[in-house]
Amino acid sequence: MQQADLMLKGGVVLTMDPAYRVYAPGAVVIQGRDIIAVGPLADIASRFAATQTLECAEQVIMPGLINTHTHMPMSLLRGLADDLRLDVWLYGYILPVEKQFVNPEFCYLGTLLSCAEMIRGGVTCYADMYYFEEEVAWATVEAGMRAVCGETVIKFPTPDAPSYDESLTYCRDFLRNWHGHELIVAAPAPHSVYMCTPEILQATTELAREFDVPLLIHVSETADEVEHWVNQTSMPPLRWLEAQGVLEAKVLAAHCVHLNHEELHILRKHNVGVAHNPTSNLKLASGFAPVAGMLENGVHVGLGTDGCASNNNLDLFEEMHLSALISKAVTRDPVMVPARQALAMATISGAKALHLDHLIGSLEAGKRADIAIVDLNSLHNVPRFETTGLNIYSQLVYAAQSSDVRHVIINGRVVMHDRQLLTLDAGSIIQQARQIGEDVNQFFIQREQSLLEKVAAIGGLEREESYEVQVKARIQNKELVVQALQRSDIAIVKESVREQYDTYFFFSDPDWGMLRHREDLVREADGSISPIYTLTAMGPTKEAEYGNAIVLTRSRLTAPADRTLRFYREYFRPREERQVNKKRWRYRIRYHGVDMAVNIDEIIQPAREGWYLEIKSRTWSSRDAERKAALISELLHILGVAPENLVRQDYVDFAASLEERRA
Ligand SMILES: [Zn+2]
Repeated sequence: MQQADLMLKGGVVLTMDPAYRVYAPGAVVIQGRDIIAVGPLADIASRFAATQTLECAEQVIMPGLINTHTHMPMSLLRGLADDLRLDVWLYGYILPVEKQFVNPEFCYLGTLLSCAEMIRGGVTCYADMYYFEEEVAWATVEAGMRAVCGETVIKFPTPDAPSYDESLTYCRDFLRNWHGHELIVAAPAPHSVYMCTPEILQATTELAREFDVPLLIHVSETADEVEHWVNQTSMPPLRWLEAQGVLEAKVLAAHCVHLNHEELHILRKHNVGVAHNPTSNLKLASGFAPVAGMLENGVHVGLGTDGCASNNNLDLFEEMHLSALISKAVTRDPVMVPARQALAMATISGAKALHLDHLIGSLEAGKRADIAIVDLNSLHNVPRFETTGLNIYSQLVYAAQSSDVRHVIINGRVVMHDRQLLTLDAGSIIQQARQIGEDVNQFFIQREQSLLEKVAAIGGLEREESYEVQVKARIQNKELVVQALQRSDIAIVKESVREQYDTYFFFSDPDWGMLRHREDLVREADGSISPIYTLTAMGPTKEAEYGNAIVLTRSRLTAPADRTLRFYREYFRPREERQVNKKRWRYRIRYHGVDMAVNIDEIIQPAREGWYLEIKSRTWSSRDAERKAALISELLHILGVAPENLVRQDYVDFAASLEERRA
């Protein structure tokens, strides 16, 4: 009789070994961190005695599930903002909150929360891509889990590094500190082709090869990403990564939703593992990864949940279920991705994708004891059949739930027994996570109270308040005004012709004023057109009036608008929208030492007869404003504007709201 530490007895042993051997009733013997024997119960019981025994009758003993793609700390942002387009979700919510909250404590706690959830769902190993991976790794060790921890490197400042040089230094130190650890594989994770420079990809590839660890990267998640990359480099992202030499490392590519036929071969040729994330791809409407095609080409495909902010859980049972169903629907072929293959993706195939199949992914003597034991006694799991030899796989993939997982063993250690977590204090984790949730809530409540805060949150803004003295009038003859400007006491500094497309947002709260998005198409001297996009938050009221309809207005903040109008519409959710399109002849002039803009506008939408004249000058004090108002009065006279033609309305007041126009 050979003595061992732990024996799992009875029940159905699903080995997921190359022959897909099943033992029912079977047994698994564990010594230290390793599996030392797997086989029929009678045979094992006659050869081994164990210090500790787990009775597993009516249960399935299978390899622990492997989550090949996630962002662990993001479980703390679960449900923050859903049902949004990717850019609004990322730039409007995730990035601002990450900037404010992501620090080492956040990452540690978020990882504990994710580990607890995953262990309860039978997951024993995961691959992560985030920041402060030292903390992620430490929390994972506390939980007793196994992980490939990918330190994210991008070309922008991150929560853990102000520049990518420092990010690479952090990454190298992290790889060195954790090299050879029993549970943790420290890896570089250049985010994606579009967030990295060729130098970052080269440096991280060298790191991965030097330490012989996987390189984690997002690849071809959306059609936009691929289209953009093809336009820029004339190659799709995976082909381009091959050309850059990145695939010489042991690569784990997340998503791979939009691949062409050639790229399927590239995956196989370079033994690139794929992390397929069905829920995330569905939720963000990214598309359907060609999983059936990958599997036919012998590509190692694992399953991932992606981060909780785009899922919103870490449930590998759901991913198995969806991966099988989606592949059938997309190929219109119900035999595609059968249950056993779906379970393989969550176990042995996932281990191959992580380049860790020499250690985990199947129940075989010599491998690490990473095991999930699933109870089949619940209502949704009965009855059971043995008609095809494959029923047990169907049971797990189509009927079972993550809450059916009863015991979990990682690296030979029981980390969950009878659904009780043995390494983590779930109550305390929940309490701390709720506190973070409250802080994030407050941050958003604050932000949603003010338009300026909301504008500032999406970054890159000049917080500058400016005042303008201005007047507007109808004119009958544009040429007469242009001629009148040709005087010796008026210097025309610069002139331009432009088309301006303005969209005004109005809000329920009148204190918010209005927000203007302007597309300014400036016609250059050579006839070319260069567009300028700006976003301007405008004061709700006129500040002062000086007679002759000359008013003082306040624009609180102007910034380059580097996102689409659609983005701003979805992010600010205005109550009402109005549009003004016009052609503008703009003259920058100097009159009595004062800089002014004289605009002659033809309003195209809403269509108006004739032209409008605007005279504007920036101002900084009320005395200065009074002086400029007097000069503008003089100019009105010079340019022949009769008092009855002065206009007190803004152009936007001419425009009906989009809603009214549609009606
Ligand atoms: Zn991801």
